[in-house]
Amino acid sequence: MLKTLKQVRMYSIPVSDPRVSELITWYLRALQRAIDIIWDNTEWKYRLPKIERRKRKQIVIIPYKLKVPELPKDKSFKKRLRDDLLQNCPYARHWVDAVIRTAYSIMESWRKRYLRGRARKVKPRVRRRFARCKITLMRVDYGEKRIRITVKPGEYIEVSWGGRWFTRRVEGWSVGEVVLKDDGVLIPFKSTRAIEVRDVVAWDSNELSLDGFSSRVGFIRVDLKPLQSMKIVYERKKRVAQSRGLKDVYEKYVARERNRERDFVNKLASGLTRLLPNTTHVFEDLEKEELVSRRETPKSRRKRNARTPWKIIQRKISERAVVAKVSPRNTSRTCPRCGYVVKTQVGRVFKCPRCGFELDRQKLASVNIYLKYLRMRGFPHSDDPEEAVKGELWVGVTPSGRSPVTWIPVKRDPKGSEAKGRGLGIKRYQAL
Ligand SMILES: [Zn+2]
Repeated sequence: MLKTLKQVRMYSIPVSDPRVSELITWYLRALQRAIDIIWDNTEWKYRLPKIERRKRKQIVIIPYKLKVPELPKDKSFKKRLRDDLLQNCPYARHWVDAVIRTAYSIMESWRKRYLRGRARKVKPRVRRRFARCKITLMRVDYGEKRIRITVKPGEYIEVSWGGRWFTRRVEGWSVGEVVLKDDGVLIPFKSTRAIEVRDVVAWDSNELSLDGFSSRVGFIRVDLKPLQSMKIVYERKKRVAQSRGLKDVYEKYVARERNRERDFVNKLASGLTRLLPNTTHVFEDLEKEELVSRRETPKSRRKRNARTPWKIIQRKISERAVVAKVSPRNTSRTCPRCGYVVKTQVGRVFKCPRCGFELDRQKLASVNIYLKYLRMRGFPHSDDPEEAVKGELWVGVTPSGRSPVTWIPVKRDPKGSEAKGRGLGIKRYQAL
């Protein structure tokens, strides 16, 4: 099956031009003004509880927030906003449109977070220094690998990505809207290509491991303990620095932890996509997790996002492979064979009271995510999970050093046959 893989890679090109900082200063002032105006014109409307029928029962769904902000979007408002911003604009008019668009996207994301209970009812403030460009302000010369950005009519800033360390990595890619920073220009390179997808792997994210299931390989267990122990060490270091009032040291630890986390995630994503080529990676949609009733999700799984950078892991894999998402509803308490949903969960082993199917609970969610995806794609529920559950592959990432990047401790599966993973084109390393 052919699928389109969209990839984006961001690279920064240093620029030292005082005009950039001046432009950013104006941009931020205009952006905050646009946000102020949108905020002042936002209406707060009541949202009524909904009544739904589920399984012959009437259920009243009470929205999390009863008062919902509605951003002003009509044409006349937008025109007034634009006219207001144009009054103090020494730059090309398209910059005002760039400001308005960014203001709306900031407000939309605040609104979303507010409705989920993640943001307070406080007007967003712009703190980071940046200016997001619009494609209408850019002219890209792919032959010369040069971008010309309009500052004022007839006045330009030019940057070139020729001869950079990443030039070859983005050969044939298209350039998206750049972001100006005080010290450089951030360029997103995009590519869309068709790739052959033959396999599916479903990932269940847990605090100490990423548990995968694919009918070809069987279970895959990715060890996240090195990441967690690294984070625990830095949490302690940061706490000590904080208690001694050493702000610089604290900041240093924050940056180091972030770098090491990024390094780990990059290696994890590239290791997994190399280990499982031509594969769709299926994850639970973490955005939807909060919509699932709290009682349905065990505490251990709700807490898993606290320390593990799930969203970054998903994003990094999506930059390299096709990714799909399924709803997390009931994935950790449904029988994969007969579909029965158990109410209480105890013990390490899942046992279906209806059909007797047994499976290690740690592995249950990944099988269910896998089956959910197949059903979503219109495949019948014909795979007997017991048949597919054969091999077991253990994968780990060493967080520091260049190699080994991915290691697979040699492990035999419960039935005694050699663990699969050989012939997957990956080197085997001794477990650390
Ligand atoms: Zn069952």
